[in-house]
Amino acid sequence: MWWEIPKHLEVRNDTLFIAGKSTIELAQEYGTPLYVINADRIRANYQRLYSAVTKHLSKDRNFDINYAMKAHSGLAVLETLKEVGSHVDATSSFEVLTAEYVGFPKEKILYTGTSVKPEDMRITLGKAKMNIDSIGQIDRYAKLKDEEKFNPRVSIRINPGKGAGHVPECITAGKDAKYGVPEYQTIKAYKMAIDHGLEPVGIHCHIGSGILPPDIGTYYSAAETLLDLAGEVSKKLNIEFEFVDIGGGIGIPYKETDKPINMDIFGKKVAEIVESKADEHSLDNFTLKMEPGRYIVGNSEILLMAVVDVSDKYMLELGVDGGFNVFDRPARYNAYHEIVIANKADEEPKKDYRVSGNLCESGDVFTESKKTSRKLPFAEENDLIAILHVGAYGLSMASNYNMRGIPMEIMVDGGEQRITRERDTWEDLVFKQNF
Ligand code: PLP
Repeated sequence: MWWEIPKHLEVRNDTLFIAGKSTIELAQEYGTPLYVINADRIRANYQRLYSAVTKHLSKDRNFDINYAMKAHSGLAVLETLKEVGSHVDATSSFEVLTAEYVGFPKEKILYTGTSVKPEDMRITLGKAKMNIDSIGQIDRYAKLKDEEKFNPRVSIRINPGKGAGHVPECITAGKDAKYGVPEYQTIKAYKMAIDHGLEPVGIHCHIGSGILPPDIGTYYSAAETLLDLAGEVSKKLNIEFEFVDIGGGIGIPYKETDKPINMDIFGKKVAEIVESKADEHSLDNFTLKMEPGRYIVGNSEILLMAVVDVSDKYMLELGVDGGFNVFDRPARYNAYHEIVIANKADEEPKKDYRVSGNLCESGDVFTESKKTSRKLPFAEENDLIAILHVGAYGLSMASNYNMRGIPMEIMVDGGEQRITRERDTWEDLVFKQNF
């Protein structure tokens, strides 16, 4: 199968294995729905990107990966990444507090929010570096100057005027995007920051998520624009940048026909852009940052669900014991994810099934949209379904809709498995409320 990866996702005797563990045995032991994440895969993804880029950068240039924790903010995932040296990009004050709780030092946490309230900024003071999203936020942040842990050293998020992403909802730059300071206001924003007593040390952009060839060209072009802007700001305002953050967005193949990014070519291209623009604009010694989420965790996790109902309706309907509250990407974005019958993983696909969830919503399907189906082996009640590559924007987007619990997650690490998130109980859902 195209998605098999030795020691990570394998089919053995018709059964899907993850990290050497039988999915059938895991489902029997822990129940379903069940997220299963492989720590070694997270480490391998991190290392691959890190070495692909550092290999081509000039020797005295530092490179940081600020893992975008919105992709998966589980404590065990964060700890795994902390141990390999990752930094983090946090999008909310609670994400900042969580990164701190896991043990990331403040120098390694960048706080990139949008519509950021003073309260959110206040509770993160002394815990993260602020990456400012708008002209308005410069003013709101500067008003906190008298607070004890206020840090004037900030970065500013720029919208470089171009974006890319696997669906329109995931494009985060360009004229339709709500994020960042538009490129034509860059000088104004940095000047305003200085006039407000701030000390800008960083410049940032993030143009979208799920970028694959041929759109990856837009990623390179945005990086060039950002570095040109860094050069202009540096020259006009005499700012020496400590870091230039070219964002996340690196896509992964979800289906056989998706063209993966060749990491060596990617690393080389990024390094060439960075080094040549650094020379052109005499920008010395800045650290290059990237903030990938999906690339680091996307293919490290699967979701197991039991088949509850197989019925011939207007099409063959295969109903499972989780819904878009458990995994939202197919329903929300029409996103394609491989679906495998984990106990029949080697069997020939025979019939077209719509794989649907257990929520009271007709858009609650895992086969992208209400009208699509998937050719699968002959399916029966109590079969086990695995949805692949759910590590990014899976558990982190789960909800309690229909009063369904957020499921359990286990992590397999070095041959051992442990529960990294308990399954919600009815009490968890009810007793935070009052009459
Ligand atoms: N950085 C910022 C500011 C983001 O908004 C996002 C997600 O959209 C990311 C990084 C991570 O994106 P991805 O998971 O596609 O790498």
